[in-house]
Amino acid sequence: MEQLICLGIESTADNLGVGVARSDGTILANSISTHVPEEGGIHPREAARHHAEQMGNVIAEAMETAGIQKEGIDVIGFSQGPGLGPCLRTGATAARALASYLEVPLVGVNHCVAHIEIGRLTTGALDPLTLYVSGGNTMVTGFEAGRYRVFGETLDIAVGNCLDTFAREAGLEYPGGPAVEKMALDGATLIPLPYVVKGMDLSFSGLLTAASQELRDGSRRLEDICFSIQEVAYGMLGEVTERALAHTGKRELLLTGGVGANRRLRSVISSIADEHGASAKFVPIQYATDNGAMIAWTGMIAHLRGVRTPIEASHIDSRWRLDEVEVPWRD
Ligand code: AMP
Ligand code: MG
Repeated sequence: MEQLICLGIESTADNLGVGVARSDGTILANSISTHVPEEGGIHPREAARHHAEQMGNVIAEAMETAGIQKEGIDVIGFSQGPGLGPCLRTGATAARALASYLEVPLVGVNHCVAHIEIGRLTTGALDPLTLYVSGGNTMVTGFEAGRYRVFGETLDIAVGNCLDTFAREAGLEYPGGPAVEKMALDGATLIPLPYVVKGMDLSFSGLLTAASQELRDGSRRLEDICFSIQEVAYGMLGEVTERALAHTGKRELLLTGGVGANRRLRSVISSIADEHGASAKFVPIQYATDNGAMIAWTGMIAHLRGVRTPIEASHIDSRWRLDEVEVPWRD
């Protein structure tokens, strides 16, 4: 069978990613350029400027790695949402320009769907319950009746954002998640911090506020605060994930997103999977953080099932929810 090639552009936040995927599931390239703010968190417009400046380079690098010329591209995929408006618009503009210049179809991809699809491709999971934890998203999701349903999600900030903001206040290096993880290894005392699970949803802003307060009080070791943040945050995520797993009866538990690199969280997920006779699947880190390959692959499988995004319908949606997306390639 003749293989098709999709080039995908990811630009929802601080990462600009360009990936190339072939219709047989081979990832041919996964290039990335990350905007690192000089101080503070992500500034959407500065990140967007970085993406605009690097767009040509990153596309060229991905095409070179994939060993393709422009004539070899059959489809263009792009992250249409959710994410930061200015960043999304920069990626969408490049994708539209490429698709019209090459006269190939354009496919707008939901960023959260793409995390799940690249997870299924790279781990071999068929129908997993997924915990997606990153700098901007926190959700427990699974496929039911034609869509990815959200079983639980954060009501305020993402768990990665909580870790990054705390780390910045503590003067730890960026990104915060790995820095907090390293500190937590030398922690021993569990400090009481707000554990907030409401129904199946989660809230991390109270945890961040209380941990920052402990920092300012100065009477606790930073190692103990980091240890406690991890125990509380990953305990909350474990609780909701376990309930969703028990409820859905899925046989696979997929962990993805940048926070999924965390050893403590991985061990929580492994024990939950074990207890329910499910298998734990961890997405390889280069495909777990925001990347272009996931957009290329999801654009490819959507395209094969007839999904098209005409230019006039290709405006970005910074709040596009996962459970609004029709998923015709799974039935
Ligand atoms: P993403 O948004 O998927 O690109 O992932 C970035 C997020 O993952 C940031 O919030 C990081 O702090 C977080 N992160 C990366 N490595 C780890 C780790 N080992 N433990 C916890 N969080 C992590
Ligand atoms: Mg993401």
